[in-house]
Amino acid sequence: MSINFKNFVKQVSVNNPNEPEFLQAVTEVVEDLIPFINEHRPDLIDQKILERMVEPERVVSFRVAWLDDKNEIQVNRGFRVQMNSAIGPYKGGLRFAPDVNLSILKFLAFEQVFKNSLTSLPIGGGKGGSNFDPKGKSDQEIMRFCQSFMTELQRHIGSETDVPAGDIGVGSREIGYLFGQYKRLQNNFSGVLTGKGVQWGGSYIRPEATGYGLLYFVQCVLDYHNDTMEGKTVSISGAGNVAYYAAEKAIQLGAKVITLSNSQGTIYDKEGFTLEKLHFIAGLGRDLGKYAKKYSSATYHAKENPWQFKCDIALPCATQNEISEADAKLLIKNGCKIVAEGANMPSTAEAIKVYIQHKILFGPGKAANAGGVAVSGLEMSQNAIGQQWSSEKVDHRLKLIMENIHKTCVRYGKDNNGFVNYLRGANIGGFIKVAEAMKAQGVV
Ligand code: NDP
Repeated sequence: MSINFKNFVKQVSVNNPNEPEFLQAVTEVVEDLIPFINEHRPDLIDQKILERMVEPERVVSFRVAWLDDKNEIQVNRGFRVQMNSAIGPYKGGLRFAPDVNLSILKFLAFEQVFKNSLTSLPIGGGKGGSNFDPKGKSDQEIMRFCQSFMTELQRHIGSETDVPAGDIGVGSREIGYLFGQYKRLQNNFSGVLTGKGVQWGGSYIRPEATGYGLLYFVQCVLDYHNDTMEGKTVSISGAGNVAYYAAEKAIQLGAKVITLSNSQGTIYDKEGFTLEKLHFIAGLGRDLGKYAKKYSSATYHAKENPWQFKCDIALPCATQNEISEADAKLLIKNGCKIVAEGANMPSTAEAIKVYIQHKILFGPGKAANAGGVAVSGLEMSQNAIGQQWSSEKVDHRLKLIMENIHKTCVRYGKDNNGFVNYLRGANIGGFIKVAEAMKAQGVV
């Protein structure tokens, strides 16, 4: 008995019509898993482990009605996808963005299962959010929306059931409002959300964790190939949480970071950003054009992404499908050797084929950006034992976790010729633990 890749993907597409992002994520994973299972783990076939893994354990969809500043009623849709709890409570961020839909949240939740397993921490996978657009909303509107959203979500989550965190459009402010409402309704101060403020149960290094972890992973890749970050030219997309701290750590490690971007355009600084320049960018809000007016070494490229500039390392840190096949080819033509994903699924399936074909060292998001959820897991541990660890201790553990993830990728992704296919390594490495747990727990 064996699993047929084409039939499997076809069945997933029939079962999940109009969910292109979910199908893209599943295809990318099972392309590696099916040959592995057929060859090495036929015992998992009649257990229908893969068939079960692509079916969320539970999906909650709910109305979020709230009053805007003009006292008009607004209606959004909220979701929580509880994908897999075989190795721990569901864990994964909340995204508030106008394009949020079930397909996007199911792809993110599916990826999260593998990512969380890779961290070696006991956390399952989930994801949630709303099609609410926080841009241009007042602070009061954000608070009223978060309170209405949590009024429904609170009945589905809990510190040992499902522990959401932030993602695009959900930062420390939103986590604060969500936590406040949860506590008020449940009369319970618990670690039900991560990304909390350090004064009220949060972990040090959580805001920095995804970006820093990304650079620790890239350091491991370079080290494994007898190279270092020193003097490398790095192109980064995005100008949010992940991009900012990725840039900061890259600069601290001696690299030259030349781009940051948002949905309106890209700033390119041929001399590279300094930490001082980075602080200036942080204060700009979304108007990145102002940077090029202040610094003569920089140019602003409206409506363009950063992949046209010559770099050694590309770190996509904005959103899904932001590197097309053409972008991937351009990066390679310009000498890029490493692509490591701070964002989730920022490379299209076609772009990934180009990387593999050209033997680019490609760190997929589920491995490279796992530092965020890893420190969220550490935040859960700190909450459970009523302690708060120092920045140094959390940063040290983050480094160890990223080193371990790199080792797992090498273990399962190394070809006979020595080339490391990090994508295959991450897919198989993340899968095994979840599959074993599902098998042990019976048909549920
Ligand atoms: P933020 O909301 O802090 O920042 C997102 C950034 O990406 C903004 O600069 C935003 O620009 C830009 N962006 C969003 N959508 C688009 C688009 N369609 N085209 C171009 N730019 C866009 O989010 P995060 O930094 O937290 O998240 C970024 C990515 O990292 C996401 O894929 C997320 O899932 C992933 N991630 C985040 C983790 C975390 O800990 N926060 C953990 C692991 C992964 P603009 O303001 O113009 O919209």
